Amino acid sequence: MSVEISARLAAALAAAPADRIVYDLDGIEAQYDRLLAELPEVQVRFALKACPVDEVLRCLADRGAGFDAAGPAEIVQALRTGVPVDRIHYGNTVKSDTDIAEAHRLGVRTFATDSVQDVRAIAEHAPGARVFCRLATSGDGALWGLSRKFGCSAEDAVRVLTTARASGLVPAGLSVHVGSQQMTGEAWQQALDSIAEVLVTLEGVGIVPDHVNLGGGLPALGYLDRHGNPLDPPLDKIFTVIREGMERLSDLTAAPLGFVLEPGRHLVADHGAVRAHVYRLTGRAQPDGTHARWLYLSVGKFNGLYEMDELSYRLVFPGRAGEDDGEYVGAVVAGPTCDSDDAYGGGRHPVRVPGDLASGDPVWILSAGAYATSYTTQGFNGIRPLPCVCIGGPEGHH
Ligand SMILES: *Cc1c(COP(=O)(O)O)cnc(C)c1O
Repeated sequence: MSVEISARLAAALAAAPADRIVYDLDGIEAQYDRLLAELPEVQVRFALKACPVDEVLRCLADRGAGFDAAGPAEIVQALRTGVPVDRIHYGNTVKSDTDIAEAHRLGVRTFATDSVQDVRAIAEHAPGARVFCRLATSGDGALWGLSRKFGCSAEDAVRVLTTARASGLVPAGLSVHVGSQQMTGEAWQQALDSIAEVLVTLEGVGIVPDHVNLGGGLPALGYLDRHGNPLDPPLDKIFTVIREGMERLSDLTAAPLGFVLEPGRHLVADHGAVRAHVYRLTGRAQPDGTHARWLYLSVGKFNGLYEMDELSYRLVFPGRAGEDDGEYVGAVVAGPTCDSDDAYGGGRHPVRVPGDLASGDPVWILSAGAYATSYTTQGFNGIRPLPCVCIGGPEGHH
């Protein structure tokens, strides 16, 4: 399954006279509605870092989403949408004393944690707050596993939440993150199994959490892998595993259990696209003697496509005949900078492109809506972050 670009997004890209990233707010709203149709019981806390664009956040907040914020600056940005502060949690396990105090001053009362040291700091700087403990996952099956930096073992989780209770905090929940762009249902299955195990142990020490947070990791559908093949994640299976797991956990606990999700890329990736342009199509002998063509574009790893370490993106060459009719050639796609990491597929996997591309020709880069505006450098080789435009949404065109 891949995604088709919407007519409004195509029209906005076609009308763009210069490079930009365009977000389709109607598409993001529809994506949010589809997620809630699949998992009606969950509370969505959008992970801001996936798309810290005010219009996007406002449109999600208007639909009922809250926010997973990673620090005071993201909390302030989330509050700008007008969302009630109790729909914002501090989802980063890594925080300084001043970060905690500032979040508390801003009204945030729910904090992620994964260590006794962090719990003590929360107790001191946000007394009485609710905490949820993040369990480690393997990260297997994800394009970006998040395994070692975050989360604790089952035993440590019990110690962390017991310490929280003893420090006057509310031991409110358990969380996981199965890794970003998670491609398997099994990863959620394993995460749900370990949550179940910890819930049982916690009950034994008199701790009954009121919610489980299944984190982010839900995949986008429109990406290509490093070789240029569609990623095709089994989304229906993933939803089935999550639904069955939520039921199982609810049956397990005495008190009613709420469920939170922190999707990032799943809500925005396929509803944002970049209008870039061709720098040049070249051909040269490589050091190993083979001949290779390179297509250099105006947008690459350092101004919006950071995730090309694991992904390649579908390209559209507007106004060109399809690959079957025209004169297409194989070329490695790369960004404009003087950095050799700034290339699709490690610079080794050519894709089909029109053979007569000229400097200045427009190129559309699809499924680029997640992590593009946040993962962008400021002035690397003098390149500026892409201007950002939102179309559609509750207030019409911006
Ligand atoms: C980044 C992040 C997310 C979002 O991850 P996606 O893979 O984009 O869904 C969710 N929760 C936490 C704690 C995060 O750090």
